[in-house]
Amino acid sequence: MMKAKEKKGWKSIPKGGLIDKGGTAKEYETGSWKTFKPVIDRSKCINCLQCWMYCPDSAIKVKEGKIEGVDMKHCKGCGICASICPVKAIKMEKE
Ligand code: SF4
Ligand code: SF4
Repeated sequence: MMKAKEKKGWKSIPKGGLIDKGGTAKEYETGSWKTFKPVIDRSKCINCLQCWMYCPDSAIKVKEGKIEGVDMKHCKGCGICASICPVKAIKMEKE
């Protein structure tokens, strides 16, 4: 997590809040926002990858077409993956 003195002030925000380059989400560890975390029940998972497609933080990790886990540094606990899963293989649990 970014330390307080490393944080940028409002004067360093580009005019209009413009995002002037790609891939900036990697710099922000949105994982510190969460209250709930997704827990995947692999016995129910059918590897449809819908959670991977819908995750707004690209936090679902996939290897060779199968769910590998969740990147907790970037998962912000929004619960979209749990609500989109067609077989209810993801439960949101308190951190
Ligand atoms: S949406 Fe559910 S079933 Fe599909 S890959 Fe994710 S956890 Fe598995
Ligand atoms: S809870 Fe939200 S951010 Fe975390 S893996 Fe699921 S969809 Fe992604």
